Amino acid sequence: MQAGSAKQSTLLHKTIPIVVTRSVKGKFRNFKTAVMVLAYSIYFSLPWLPWARFSGDNQAVMFDLATRRFFIFDLIVYPQDIFWLAMLLFIAAALLFFTTGLIGRAWCGFFCFQTLWTDLFILIEQTIQGERNARLRLKKQPWNLEKIIKVGGSHFLMIAISFWTAVTFAAYFTHAPQFVRDLFTGHAADAGYITVLALTITTYAAAGLLREHICTLACPYARFQGVMYESDTLAVSYDTRRGEGEKGRTIPIVGLRTHEERQAQGHGDCIDCGFCVQVCPTGIDIRDGLQYQCISCGLCIDACNNIMDSVGYPRGLIRYDSESNLNNPIPKKPKLEWMRLKVLGYAAALLLMSGLLFYNIGTRAQTEITVQQVRQPLYTVLSDGNIRNRYQIHIVNKTEHAETYTLSAEGIPDSAIDLGNLPAIKVRAAKDLTLNLKINLSPEAARKTQEFDLIITPATQGAEPIKIETNFSSPK
Ligand code: SF4
Ligand code: SF4
Repeated sequence: MQAGSAKQSTLLHKTIPIVVTRSVKGKFRNFKTAVMVLAYSIYFSLPWLPWARFSGDNQAVMFDLATRRFFIFDLIVYPQDIFWLAMLLFIAAALLFFTTGLIGRAWCGFFCFQTLWTDLFILIEQTIQGERNARLRLKKQPWNLEKIIKVGGSHFLMIAISFWTAVTFAAYFTHAPQFVRDLFTGHAADAGYITVLALTITTYAAAGLLREHICTLACPYARFQGVMYESDTLAVSYDTRRGEGEKGRTIPIVGLRTHEERQAQGHGDCIDCGFCVQVCPTGIDIRDGLQYQCISCGLCIDACNNIMDSVGYPRGLIRYDSESNLNNPIPKKPKLEWMRLKVLGYAAALLLMSGLLFYNIGTRAQTEITVQQVRQPLYTVLSDGNIRNRYQIHIVNKTEHAETYTLSAEGIPDSAIDLGNLPAIKVRAAKDLTLNLKINLSPEAARKTQEFDLIITPATQGAEPIKIETNFSSPK
């Protein structure tokens, strides 16, 4: 029992500590920073971008759950357009599979929210606490004023950013300026406070405390990414043959400093400096081969290239390369091998679904109408012998202005249409209306009529009439 507990505690001790990374300069680091700046600029500014519109708040992007409409600039998405969401999810999945098949986990390394927020929080630590060695020293030293200020200050900033991340997220679902005012004056809805609290805690916990453990222990994508890899997939790889040579890697001691000296003595180009391991956000050693913990961030490539430059060896000991190229007797220059069945299949699915989505958005009707026949009872025989059917018409006006509609019919006389006392069919901008319609036909006309067309015409000039095929029921 005791032995088990001790083992468990050792395992926990090994698992819980967070990797303390060293900073690095290079093109992958620059690209990551550029993506981070762009992603944060978009995420934090979008809810504050004003946008003139008549039927909702003047906010460029707003997922208005109260009126069940999503505003995305000039596009307004209604609940009836929910299949767009399904298409969007399919496109996202196809894009993920396509890029992974081509260049490995580019999403994880550069674009995933977990990566973006973790990267920022590491940057905060580096700025306040110093480089890797200083942070490791701080970790080991007992709590004193320096540690309280530096570690406490970093975590205070992380919590503040997590809080603003949560507020911004909630602001996408309501009028942002009003929500922030209400939040700080105690007038926001309970759901607002719960959302902000929950997201503050989860953001801080995931990016500030758990970090790489989310990628290596919690993320399911890390586990099934291998299915999408092929031998031609470009992945961050260590050139083992070049790095190890015949006699293995070794530090550059006297007589093994220059490239020529090492080659002559059968040693590889890896000088075993460990820089690639120290910069890795998941704490792995890429020299052990491709591992599921690798998020393809490319920072070890930057690190190794810097080392190769400093010792005067060729760059690219760690590089984006494919397994098949690395297995060549003399590896060629790595290139994108996209003429592969899987990649082409993902690309075709991506293009097809994206085209369909854009076509659907571009050709969406401005008015959506459904007609339902009332089936209880299917028909009524009136005192004058006429047959009456009743219908419910639901009109959604998806325009940004009030619309008036006229109702006519094909296959039955217009005089059969009975809208009661409704003087005109008017629907306000971005609203819907349900009306009750009666159709009264003489017994002879009813016998001949099984179907007819209802025609609903918007008054706006140039708007197309909408024709809806409708059943008419009568006694046999
Ligand atoms: S091994 Fe390299 S590419 Fe993979 S996560 Fe670590 S630093 Fe990033
Ligand atoms: S950075 Fe390059 S040289 Fe240094 S240990 Fe890693 S692979 Fe070897």
